[in-house]
Amino acid sequence: MNLKIKYPEFKARRYSPVIDLGSSKTIIPAESFFIGNFLATPLTVIRDRLKKWLEFEKSYQELYPDYSKLFDVSRRYTLTIKEDDNIHRRVKRLTDLNPRELEFALSQKIRAREESYSLLRTGGDKAFDLDIERGDSVDIYGGNVVLVGMVKSKGDARKAQQVRFKHVSVTGPFENSKSKFRDVSCDCEDSRRAREKQGYQDIRLVCTHAGALLHYASENMRSIKGLREKDTQIFLPFNSIFPQERKNVKLEWIIQGEQPNLDYLTTDVVLSRYFNGETFFSIGKKLTNIPVIYDKILESIILDGTASFEVLPESYIFERSNPINPAVRTLFTQMESRLEDHSKGYKKAGNCLEKRDSSYETIALIFKKIKDEVRLLFNRNFPPVAVVRKDIDSQVGITDIYRYIDPETHLHPFEELFMPKIMFDDKTRKYTKYEVIIPSEFPIPAGLRDDYKEAIAKYFPGGIEGFRHQIQRRGLKNQTNLLDLT
Ligand SMILES: [Zn+2]
Repeated sequence: MNLKIKYPEFKARRYSPVIDLGSSKTIIPAESFFIGNFLATPLTVIRDRLKKWLEFEKSYQELYPDYSKLFDVSRRYTLTIKEDDNIHRRVKRLTDLNPRELEFALSQKIRAREESYSLLRTGGDKAFDLDIERGDSVDIYGGNVVLVGMVKSKGDARKAQQVRFKHVSVTGPFENSKSKFRDVSCDCEDSRRAREKQGYQDIRLVCTHAGALLHYASENMRSIKGLREKDTQIFLPFNSIFPQERKNVKLEWIIQGEQPNLDYLTTDVVLSRYFNGETFFSIGKKLTNIPVIYDKILESIILDGTASFEVLPESYIFERSNPINPAVRTLFTQMESRLEDHSKGYKKAGNCLEKRDSSYETIALIFKKIKDEVRLLFNRNFPPVAVVRKDIDSQVGITDIYRYIDPETHLHPFEELFMPKIMFDDKTRKYTKYEVIIPSEFPIPAGLRDDYKEAIAKYFPGGIEGFRHQIQRRGLKNQTNLLDLT
């Protein structure tokens, strides 16, 4: 399509379950627990993992020839290799390396990305500001239990003036905490940005440091100072180490492309992050498809609607300082003020995916009223539309938690305008009533009308005539505003 206007779109930083705590929300990304695991693991153990990963990687293609891996690090990379104390650049596959070479190549990649080796050079007790022999411990404060620790920062070693440890605290860190992760704080850039860039909601992020602290605490319960009798287990929403009873999860439980063996999943995630430069958003989408990593408590809060799948965007695109086409801004402001008008009473409620994984995937801006939502779709490839999602009291099925609709079944949004249907919702993992609309309560700004007309002509069944017919057949209010687009 030859669009006249440059449409803005949200860019994603994270894809993750979000716990709704009423006045605030806590994002609990799967990758924070996987990379946090790595950060909190002693280097000796990481060495052993890399060694076993290499052995497995060399054999699995013979064992499981049909598998395409979820995190694929099988291609050739330009690697920094140490041979006889000399540094060389070599194009090789990771499986061509021995464990020491892999560790070195990984440390170089980590340094390039985080400006420090510390993710690999520390780990375990040394990742924290703890000296266990001196009697240091992770602390618990007060009646409203807060887990507090200092986690070695990922990117700090060469900047001597910077704080070397991140101060991390998690309120409600236990499985039996009444409000789990009610507050999470860390000095890192990731946490700061999560809070600042979301002017319309109060966001807490479990960053990789908070993930590391929780992971460390759960593995070292005895080092927690002030632990009460009833505080038995740290809440880890995602398992990056598999409990004994799940060790028996075998191939037949796992779908094609997931993971031939779960023991190597954490290593795969770390290698893909640093060798492929895979984004947190992409890693989060993949990990949340794997049923066995979900903790039972996380499953239950998704089933009861306390947690749902959202997107943390890079920034709020309608910030006043952002240069946005004036006609698009006018349209947005009109839609926003209609929805937020007290007679309608919708409120902005974060971002989520519509048309996930299809070529029309869009990060939508959510407006919510009790259980109903209007989601505005801003996508550079088509003019803005809204998806109206109405609750129909359907329940989340246990298998729906981990699955999403096949991307092939998604239509172009202009192909389904004003045709209500029942559709699976990636955010709540429930079926809802679903309709794609163009707002009709006010005229679409003149500068945008040609683009709407072209999109309708190209995608709506029966083109412009088909669209006119559908509008009249539905007997929509204010239909002249829509007919003006034809
Ligand atoms: Zn952090």
